[in-house]
Amino acid sequence: MTAAAYGLNRFLAAARPSATYRVMDRVAARRASGAQVISLSAGEPDFDTPEHVCEAGIAAIRAGHTRYTQVAGLRALREAIATKFQHENGLDVDWRNTLVCSGGKQVIFNALAATLNEGDEVIVPAPYWVSYPEIVQLCGGKSVIVPCGSDSGFKLTPHALQAALTPNTRWLILNSPSNPTGAVYSRAELLALAEVLLAHPQVLVLSDDIYEHLIFDGIEFFTIAQVEPRLRDRVLTMNGVSKAYAMTGWRIGFGTGPGWLIEAMAKLQGQQTSGASTISQYAALAALTGPQDFILHSRVAFQRRRDSVVEQLNQAPGLHCEVPQGAFYAFASCEGLIGKMTPAGTHLDSDEAVVNALLDEAGVATVHGSAFGLGPYIRIAYALDDTSLSRACTVVQDFCRTLTD
Ligand code: GLU
Repeated sequence: MTAAAYGLNRFLAAARPSATYRVMDRVAARRASGAQVISLSAGEPDFDTPEHVCEAGIAAIRAGHTRYTQVAGLRALREAIATKFQHENGLDVDWRNTLVCSGGKQVIFNALAATLNEGDEVIVPAPYWVSYPEIVQLCGGKSVIVPCGSDSGFKLTPHALQAALTPNTRWLILNSPSNPTGAVYSRAELLALAEVLLAHPQVLVLSDDIYEHLIFDGIEFFTIAQVEPRLRDRVLTMNGVSKAYAMTGWRIGFGTGPGWLIEAMAKLQGQQTSGASTISQYAALAALTGPQDFILHSRVAFQRRRDSVVEQLNQAPGLHCEVPQGAFYAFASCEGLIGKMTPAGTHLDSDEAVVNALLDEAGVATVHGSAFGLGPYIRIAYALDDTSLSRACTVVQDFCRTLTD
């Protein structure tokens, strides 16, 4: 029997699998078959989780913290999260209005599943992280994709926001620094968007701040609830330990928002995962309350890698890359490669074809921009050691140089 015979949920049937995971799975399959692949696909820091955080996880196990916590999370961790929001983001947060989830993805899923009804619209500026529109789809909502090209620095403008709003708009998703472009919204840009939102009180805002600490060139990070306090009772500010503390596999994300929303999300979570892993919560507590020097070191390393990767990509004929201000992605236009032919005879008719040929014929894995809602681009995750990164860039340059018309 097949899925078709039994019938899938119609929201799931219409959703696409995660494009980032699809590439990561292809990399794993190629490596398993003996191929050498340099992966610039996975959006996760290559550093190890800081030692004291690992030790806190081990200590939690040894101390017998191996049972359930409250659905919304360990109180000490929720207090630490509230303190983080107060100190780092100027948000006056009561720990009761925080929620700990199994990764940032679950924060988003909980929020949208708790609030969307069929026909509700969610404004998603493109390029977007691959999972936003799919989570909207899974929750029965409708994504309103707003193209934000390089001319606006890949950022949503107040004018474009205004044009996308309808009486059915329920959420706006903001992500700064952005996956996949690394674009960072300034205080003034957020204020201008807030100005538009103030006239539409039915709209909630999801601010995905997961790359908050990966911000370069001394630029200051701002989040929308901080710059416009009048929006605070309808903003869900979310973050996590994955990117800041190299803890992707620990699966801890968190958020703060109005009490009714956090309560609804916790109600959903109580029927779903019962809460995040207790051991991981103790580790996340150590990450948030312990020494913070890891953040500075990784920021310095990522900025150095960004500079070198962007410079090398811009030397590859057919690629063009702006300098991203945050995250660990370079988002390069590959327009100059479209229509060309590889030495193996592959016709590059789309950014997906470029990405496939780069992987199959040159052994470098990237993700196509159209998966993020804007082509022809390729996303390069530079969360890799300097030597591998420089080797990968040389391979990409050689690949571009050997293409023919
Ligand atoms: N957020 C990361 C990425 O974009 C991890 C994979 C995922 O969840 O999409 O690559």
